[in-house]
Amino acid sequence: MATRVLYMEERRGQNPDPCYLREFDAKVVDRGPDFVVLDQTAFYAEGGGQPDDTGMFRWTGGESRVLRVTKDKGVIRHHVDRMPAADEVHGVVDWDRRYKHMRMHTSQHLMSGLVFRIFGARTVGNQIHTDYSRVDFQPASFGPEEIKRIEDACNQVIADGQDVRIFEEDRVVVQNKIEDRALLDLIPASVRRLRIIQIGETDYCPCGGTHLKNASEIGKVHILEKRSKGRETDRIIYELLPA
Ligand SMILES: [Zn+2]
Repeated sequence: MATRVLYMEERRGQNPDPCYLREFDAKVVDRGPDFVVLDQTAFYAEGGGQPDDTGMFRWTGGESRVLRVTKDKGVIRHHVDRMPAADEVHGVVDWDRRYKHMRMHTSQHLMSGLVFRIFGARTVGNQIHTDYSRVDFQPASFGPEEIKRIEDACNQVIADGQDVRIFEEDRVVVQNKIEDRALLDLIPASVRRLRIIQIGETDYCPCGGTHLKNASEIGKVHILEKRSKGRETDRIIYELLPA
C-alpha cells in the first residue's frame, strides 16, 4: 500500500495549505531494522533536488528521532534512532529545516523561470541545501551585469508578493505551456496529471517539492557566486537573506 503523502493533497481541497502541515498522526504499516513505513506522512523524502525532512515520532510512553527519510520504488522509509513501541505515532516535522527548504525551493523556481524568460537559458541541474543552493543554466555565459539583473528580477517578484499556486494539470497542457523551461522526459510517461507550481505570472513548472504560499516569504535572494561549468553552462550559487 502506498503511503499517502499529505503535502501533495492540494487537489482534495481538505487542507488549504498542505505544505505547511507540521504534525500528523499515522499508523505504522511496515518495519525494517531501522525504519518504519507509515500509512500517511507529512515528511518529505529526499529527491528532486530537495533534501529530506527530519523530526520526531511520539507515541504513548516514548519518542524517537526521524534521522532520514528515503523513497525507493515508491516506498517511503522513515529512518529512526529508536523503533516506535506502538502501532500509531504522532509525527512532528522539524519546521525550521523544512521551512528553509520551502523558501529555497520556491526561490529556485523563481530564478529558473526568470532566467528562462530573460535569457532563454534552461535549468539543467539544481540542488537545494538549508543555507545555500545552486542552479545550473544552459546555454549561459553570465557576466556581472547579468548576475545583478537576475538577482534584481528575483527580488522584484518577492517585493511584489506574488502568489504561489499549486494545482494539477493534464500532461499535454503542461507540455505546451512550458516550452523548454523544464524537461518532462524525467517524469514517467504513465503520469498523465502533473502537479504544477505557479508563481504569479512569473513561472509555471511541474514539481513534487514543498513550496511557499507567497513569494514574499522567500526574503531576499543574494547571489554568492557564478561558476562556469564549461559547455556553455553556468552555475549560480545563492543564499537567502531575511526580508
Ligand atoms: Zn521544484
